Amino acid sequence: MANEREIVVSGIRPTGFLHLGNYFGAMRNYVRMQEAYDCYFFVADWHSLTTHPDTKELRESVLRVVAENIAAGLDPEKVCLYAQSAVPQIAELYLYLNMLAYKGELEKTTTFKDKVRQNPENVNAGLLTYPVLMTADIIVHKALYVPVGKDQEQHLEMARNFAHRFNHRYGDVFPEPTAFNFGADLVKVPSLDGTGKMSKSENQLSTLFLADSDDLIRKKVMKAKTDAGPTEPNSVMPDYIQNLFQLASLVSDEGTVQKFRDDFNNASIRYGDMKKALAEDMVRFIAPIREKAEAIYADRAFLKKVLDEGAEKARDHAQQTITEVRQLVGLNYL
Ligand code: ATP
Ligand code: MG
Repeated sequence: MANEREIVVSGIRPTGFLHLGNYFGAMRNYVRMQEAYDCYFFVADWHSLTTHPDTKELRESVLRVVAENIAAGLDPEKVCLYAQSAVPQIAELYLYLNMLAYKGELEKTTTFKDKVRQNPENVNAGLLTYPVLMTADIIVHKALYVPVGKDQEQHLEMARNFAHRFNHRYGDVFPEPTAFNFGADLVKVPSLDGTGKMSKSENQLSTLFLADSDDLIRKKVMKAKTDAGPTEPNSVMPDYIQNLFQLASLVSDEGTVQKFRDDFNNASIRYGDMKKALAEDMVRFIAPIREKAEAIYADRAFLKKVLDEGAEKARDHAQQTITEVRQLVGLNYL
């Protein structure tokens, strides 16, 4: 029975178009996990409010994230797909957890410090408590596994701490969730300019989006940072060239990657040729997802049905936890 399967939760913020990093860090795992786990995947619309998005754009982004996830292979009949804001139980648990989360530890979070540096004029309380809300997202369903990219590792560590702290104070309710990637370390898909990761809201010209046209994909890949190439055999590979190889290993066949690796080691590599091959493999990979997503995105009635059904299931499931939590905290008067 579905109820006895291990529980998986993960979310994606509706902050823009989904990209290759979201796919390989998160969605590829979602698609594989849907067969064997009880999966709750959500669009993290509350999380995106930290940066005050345009109201109309937010709505469209939510629908697009759902469409792109289904296009990537998620089956709404197999998984529970919902908008975070449709599950008020998450906000209630967030409130309890906020009483157990300390200002000092939240201020030390790497992503918080980055955001403070980038946007010093918008250091709001929601930004500070982001890891607490993320913990509530996960443990409200008592999840064991959270498929995410490498960038979320620290947040998961915090989620484990908060879950543990709640259990310690009130009684053993929550399993401690772990970050998950099939058979390997967590993935970080690098940006094409050699700095940082691909991202929805930063680095957009160096990020390959699942909605990019074939020509745009080619243009972005051809502009990726390279240099004149190694002058001696078996040179040390610069990190931006390692990134290109990493991208190739995601979408190209092994023989092609090996050929260029050998060329590099022989100091005979032509980066132009490597990028051309990579661009074509990227196009082959992205185009079918883009086309499917466009069709699904246009079907508003279908998207509404998916979100309605997902919300109902997610609320019912989350409510079981909240009932238990209220009792443990001492808030059951009736
Ligand atoms: P934003 O810039 O708004 O934070 P994002 O691209 O970082 O957007 P998120 O919604 O924060 O995307 O994350 C959704 C999922 O995608 C998470 O599991 C995250 O770890 C994963 N992810 C995001 N970027 C990458 C990347 N470059 N490589 C691997 N995984 C990634
Ligand atoms: Mg992010």
